[in-house]
Formats: sequence, C-alpha cells, structure tokens
Amino acid sequence: MAEGPSPMMAQYLGIKADHADALLFYRMGDFYELFFEDAAAAAAALDIALTKRGQHEGRDIPMCGVPVHSHEAYLNTLIRKGFRVAICEQTEDPAEARKRGAKSVVRREVVRLVTPGTLTEDALLEARGAAPLAAWAEVRGEGGLAWLDLSTGAFAAMPAARAELAAALARTAPRELLLGEAHAADAEIEALAREAGAVAATLGPASFESGGAERRLTAQFGVATLEGFGAFSRPEIAAMGAVLDYVRMTQGAAAPHIRPPRRETAQAAMAIDPATRRNLELTRTLSGAREGALLTAVDRTVTPGGARLLETRLAAPLTDPQAVAARQDAVAFLRAEPELRARLRAALKQAPETARPLARLALDRAGPRDLGALRDGLARGAEAGALLAAADPPAALADAARRLGAPAALAAHLAARLAESPPMALRDGGTIAQGVDAELDAARKLRDEGRGVIAGLQADYAAQAGVASLKIRHNGVLGYFIEVGAAHGPKLTALPDIFRHRQTMANAMRFTTDALADLESRILGAADAALAVETRIFGELRDAVLAQAGAVADAADALAEVDVAAGFAELAEAERWVRPVVEQGAAFEVVGGRHPVVEQALKARGEGAFIPNDCDLSGGAAARVRLLTGPNMAGKSTWLRQNALIAVLAQAGACVPAEAARIGVVDRLFSRVGAADDLARGRSTFMVEMVETAAILNQAGPQSLVVLDEIGRGTATYDGLSIAWATLEHLHDVNRCRALFATHYHELTALAQRLEALAVNTMAVREWKGEVVFLHEVRPGAADRSYGVQVARLAGLPPVVVDRAREVLAALEEGAHAGGAKPMALIDDLPLFAAARPPAAAPAAASPALDALRALDPDAMTPREALDALYALKSAA
Ligand code: ADP
Repeated sequence: MAEGPSPMMAQYLGIKADHADALLFYRMGDFYELFFEDAAAAAAALDIALTKRGQHEGRDIPMCGVPVHSHEAYLNTLIRKGFRVAICEQTEDPAEARKRGAKSVVRREVVRLVTPGTLTEDALLEARGAAPLAAWAEVRGEGGLAWLDLSTGAFAAMPAARAELAAALARTAPRELLLGEAHAADAEIEALAREAGAVAATLGPASFESGGAERRLTAQFGVATLEGFGAFSRPEIAAMGAVLDYVRMTQGAAAPHIRPPRRETAQAAMAIDPATRRNLELTRTLSGAREGALLTAVDRTVTPGGARLLETRLAAPLTDPQAVAARQDAVAFLRAEPELRARLRAALKQAPETARPLARLALDRAGPRDLGALRDGLARGAEAGALLAAADPPAALADAARRLGAPAALAAHLAARLAESPPMALRDGGTIAQGVDAELDAARKLRDEGRGVIAGLQADYAAQAGVASLKIRHNGVLGYFIEVGAAHGPKLTALPDIFRHRQTMANAMRFTTDALADLESRILGAADAALAVETRIFGELRDAVLAQAGAVADAADALAEVDVAAGFAELAEAERWVRPVVEQGAAFEVVGGRHPVVEQALKARGEGAFIPNDCDLSGGAAARVRLLTGPNMAGKSTWLRQNALIAVLAQAGACVPAEAARIGVVDRLFSRVGAADDLARGRSTFMVEMVETAAILNQAGPQSLVVLDEIGRGTATYDGLSIAWATLEHLHDVNRCRALFATHYHELTALAQRLEALAVNTMAVREWKGEVVFLHEVRPGAADRSYGVQVARLAGLPPVVVDRAREVLAALEEGAHAGGAKPMALIDDLPLFAAARPPAAAPAAASPALDALRALDPDAMTPREALDALYALKSAA
C-alpha cells in the first residue's frame, strides 16, 4: 500500500492543479524546483540534469531545479521556447510555519505568471524590440484586436474582421494572442498566430464578455465612459477587456501602468499583408536576420524607445498626407540644423530608458536602479526638450519639447534624494543619498562607527593575547569573530574571561567576546534601521513617480519621437535622400530612385556605385502599369522592390533614396515573388503562388501599389504564360492599380499594344566579346534576348553544358521562326548525347579520321591490321 503524499507534495499538487498549462517554479530555499512532467519538459528544454526526489504513489518523483539568483536566464530560454511559467514563492517566514507544528509546510502562493506577452524585465526583453500581448474578439461577425505592451504601458485597439486578422497581426507583431473559447481549437487562427510569431492562449468567456470588459476598462482608467478615448466597437472593447483580465491574472496583486487606449483604424495605415512584409524584408530578411532588412538599413536612432517607435512606424506607414507632412516637417527642421541635431542626439544617447522602469515600478518589480534610470532619463529628456524649445521648431517637435519638459521637477526631486549610483537591490543599502534624512544619516553613522570600533578592538585583543596576527573577520554564518592561527589558539583559550571559543578549523581557531557580540548587534541594528528608512523613502519616491505616470510616459514617447526624427534627418544627410511629396491622388513618380539596402551593401563591399533608376506610374500620359523584362541578375527585383520601399519610407514620414519623388498615398501595398517554397504549410510552391496572386487580384484597388516578380514561373511554360497574361490584364483593367510586373515571358510585351496604361521596360545589357555586362539601367522597350545562357556561364556551369544549351537555344529559336515546330520534335532532332561529343564531331564538320573510321570493318580484321588502322587514325586526327 503506497503512503499518501507528504504534506509538501500535497501542497505542490494543489497549486499545480490550478496552473496546469504552465511550468510551476516551486520555491524551495535558494532554488525553484520543478516536479513530474514539468521537470521532464524543463530539463529537456534547458538541457539540465533531471533527478529524483522522494516518491509519489510508489514511484520516484522526477525533479529538476534552477537557482533563484540566476533563474532569469533559464526563464528566458523557457519563454522563448513558448512555455508559460508560474512563479510560486514562500509567502511566510519558515519560523511561522514551525510554530503551527513540526509537520506543517511553509505557505506558498503563485505570485506571478510569466508568459511571452507579459514580460517586463530587461533580462527577458530585447531593448530595441517590443513584445506586445494581444487579444482578438469576434462579436456577431465583427472583429476587434487589442494589444498592450506591458513593458511600456502602450495600449491600443483596432477593428479586425477575421479576413483582416492576418494583416493586423503582421502589423502589431504580438508575442502572445489571447482567444476566446470559441476559437480555442480554430486551426486557421492558430496558424495565423504562429505565422505572426505569437503563442496562442485561451481565456474563458468571462474575460471576453463585453459588459464586464467595459467595467474593467472604466475602473482601470478611472472614467465613467470610454468614449473620451475613441469610438470603440463591441469586439474592440471585449478584446481590450480580455487583455486587462489576463494582466490581472498573470501579474498578481500589483496594479500595472497602462496608458489610456488609442483607437487605430485599418484605413489610417497602409495595409501590408504578411507575405508582402516578408517579401520586402521590412524588419527581417527572408532568412529571419535583422541585418539586411530595411529597418536595420534606416535605423539611426540612439535610444531603445526610438528604435521601437521606428519599427512601429515602418510597420504602419500613414495614409493621411497631412499627418505625413507633420513628421516630414520635423525631419526637415532637424536636417537643416546639424548643430542642434548633434547636441540633441548627444543628450538622447545619455538618456537611459524610462518607459520600462516606469512599468516595473507600477508592478512593484523595480529596484533602485530603475529610479536612477528615471532620474537620469527624465533629466536628459528635459535638457533635450529645452534645446529644442529654444530653437523654435515646427509643431510636432514643439509639442515633443513641451512633453519632455513636463517632468523636470520630478527629475529634480529624484536627483535630490537618490544616491549617485544606486545599488542593484534595495537590501544592498545605499539607495538614498547622504543628507536626505536625519534618521538615516544617524543610523549609517552608528553602523560606520561600529566598524571603526571593531578595528580598534582588533588592536586591543592582539595586545591582550600577545598574538600580532590576530584578526577580526566577518562571515554570513558566524557574523563577526576573532581568528588566530591554530598554533596561537591556546594563548586565547588560556584567557577564558575574555575569549570564548567558537570554532576550530584545520589551521585556525575562532573566538568571540561579549564586547564583540554587543557591537555586532548594534551594527546590525543600525544597518536594519538604515534599511528601514531607505525602504520608506524608496516607497515615497515610487509613489511620487507613479503620481505622475502619465507625464513620465508622455515624456518617454516624446523622447522616442525626437530620436526617430533626428535619426531620419541624420540618415537623409549621410545618404543624400530627399523629402518626397506625399499627396492625395494616384501619382507615383520617382526620379533617380535607389534601393536603400542594396545601395548600402554595395558600398560596404566596395562593389561600385548603385545605378539610380526612375519610375513613373502616374497614369494619364504616363503608364500606370509597367512590365519589366531582362535577364536574370540584371536588377529587375531590385528595381521593383526599391519602388515599394520608397512608398513605405515616404508614408512613414522619412526621406527617400531618390533625387525627387511624388507619391499619391498608397492604401494597400502588395509584393509577391513567384515560386517561393512554403513547405511548412504543406502546399506546393505553385499553389502558394496562386493563392497569393488571388489575394491581390481580389483586394487591390485604384489607390494600391502592386509589385509582382516572375509570377507564373512555378508551372509549365504555357500555363505560366497564360496565368501571367491574364493577371496582367486584370490588374490593368479591373484593379486599375499602379503596378510593376517583372517577367521572363517576352510574349507579354505584345500586350502593350492593346492595354493603354501599360508600358514595357527592360534592363539594359551590353554584350562584349560574347560576355554579358549588366548596366542596371531601366530603359523603355522590351529585351531582345534573355541572355540566360551567358548568365549560366557566369555562374560556372561546365562549358560542355553551356555549349549544348547554346545549341538547343539556336534550334528552338529557328523552330519558332519557322513557325509551328513542336519543342518535342526539336528535342528529337537534337539527341542529348550529342552534347558529349567534342565540337569537331558535329554533323556539319567533315573529318578524314571519321571517314576512315566509317570505312573499317572490325570483324574482317586481324589483330595486327586493327593495330595498324588505329595508328593510321591517330595520324589523321
Ligand atoms: P534580377 O531580379 O534581374 O535577377 P536582381 O535585382 O536580383 O536581379 O539584381 C542582381 C544584383 O545586381 C543585385 O544583387 C545587385 O548586386 C545588382 N544590382 C541590381 N540593381 C542594381 C543597380 N541599380 N545598380 C547596381 N547594382 C545593381
């Protein structure tokens, strides 16, 4: 018969039952321990030893543990691998538990649930990337997405029907997506979440119920109604309410700092679907790296908040020309003021992050250094604000300057009270400066004097015992003690009225005295008293900051805005970019455009200058759709993408890599490349291509910009050509959008005669001594040849294969001119093995050796004759 569980195991199982979907970090002394399946999962994920501890129902209990002092690194790994972790602490003094009885267990409670979307510690977060928590709700066919960055308090919601969810998730990039039970097992939505990089979690109906959600929201923000924040729909309110409920569930008792919600709309931002984002490599390259993406190429920010804002702005370029112009004005102003810009950036570079320390303070998770960061960040911010305000800047920057200046008094309040460099933890002491509090100063004096007295005592005792090497030392177990070498021990033992023996070590003996013990308790008392005062003042400072949380958060936003504007100005100066005209209408006119990433890469590798190219899609007299032909490697994709990126940058408020640009706002941007493998989704390449093309043909409108690269190449030639043909016609006639279309089907160029807004372009190429030279210039007209064979040779294909390819090409072209010859017939005419013959063996070339060979009859020859014939052949060759 197995025994029942031990009291501790019973407690563990009780707590674990409430947190089945999380790993339970069960605090035992200096370790968090994990048991059963949790232990197995964590040991595998962390690559640490799995051991055993006791038995449960007659079987060994698997266990593993991580030290409390270094648990954040382990937590980080687990969260990155998609786990949720429940932190279970001891919530009473073990002495209390012992009072209740020998067998009673220390009380423990889960104080916090750590999940991918609710992180606030610097060790768990990327400084330059946000990790928002999102929730999606659906009410009677209408959808709403809400998202919160708990580490800064930024909170927003927007409408997102099911069909728009992918784009909304791609734009907000949440780490965790909360769903109602109705969507718990919805494979499609889970796939969308995964694709966006989020872990899905399910909440019960109470979290999403919109009445309760509204009550939670009004209570959180202390308002009677949410109308002051915007006209939120039912599903948006439900989603915001679910986010708040989840924060309450995961963060324990502390009240988080959350800013009033912003309502965003899909129309206010350029819609960019996930495939387009990937394809244009806006924030990551196709292989997932930050290096090589647009974001990295344009990021000149010097603060983490600025870097995060930049990413948000590139993810959601604006569609209102006036809003764009306000951002451009700020950039233009700072561009024209290099000295001011340099001073501002120097101040910003010195400014520590304030948004995340503020969030930690609200959650009661902050240390003295967070207050130090707020003090310095607010002070440097106020300095930057004053610099700006004095320069009479345009509206957007003037407003930022005002917000930066607002918490200056708070910064001074902190500066007057905090120590110069506060310690890591409050209990280390030294958080509060000297001269702030008389009681604190007195306690510190007592403590420090005590330490001085000890130095005096050591000299006295050394004299009394006649041991010059006698030392007074301190450790965590014994506190203060007297130590002498083992050989001197008897001298002290001989004076029992003074020295009491405490410990004998291998080569030392330790003693104490009444005076030392008394001094020690006075020192400890003084240190405790000092810590109590420091803790009280820390709490007061915390309250002072939280009382102005809104102003502090506004200042952090303003700092980020100034940083982004100054960064764009810096970039425009360094890379010779221009301010584009962004306006209503459907103009698209880029003069001397360049690809921001390719240009920088060419420069970094010293591979010569990037060749600028124009692009006009304005319609009217100019074309609205451009078809681009040209050999591989000629620069087709580069041109296509640079124009899409210029639209993104322009509407994000940045300057653009061109000599001049005029952009009628793009409402939706689409970019696709033919034949990208998507094995993860288990669809064939061609199927993916067609699904994505269908999405564009169904959604693109007259304000959209569509960039299609080699659509149709995922299938057989005639199929592919027909699909590309029909797609181009549809874009031109039905979608009536601005479009760039690169293709290797030269047949398509014939369409230009029929479609009035279609123009044909080609990448210029020069042939030089049989070699192809890419000029990287976009010219009017169609490519005369595709130069594929030349490119193949450049790529190092074996010469015999290249020669054979030339042969096949020549025959195919001849057949095409003769009209009608089927490719199969041509192939029969050109037997493959002919390629293995040396060129001299081609049928057209006459050869005496070959003639002689044909005349031979091996069956009629003696070995001697055969050998002679061989010699004859050799001399004829
Ligand atoms: P395609 O799509 O025609 O195969 P890409 O656009 O991929 O060709 O360009 C191939 C390479 O040519 C690029 O990686 C870049 O190094 C170079 N290139 C492209 N466009 C330019 C340009 N305008 N100026 C200089 N180099 C260019």
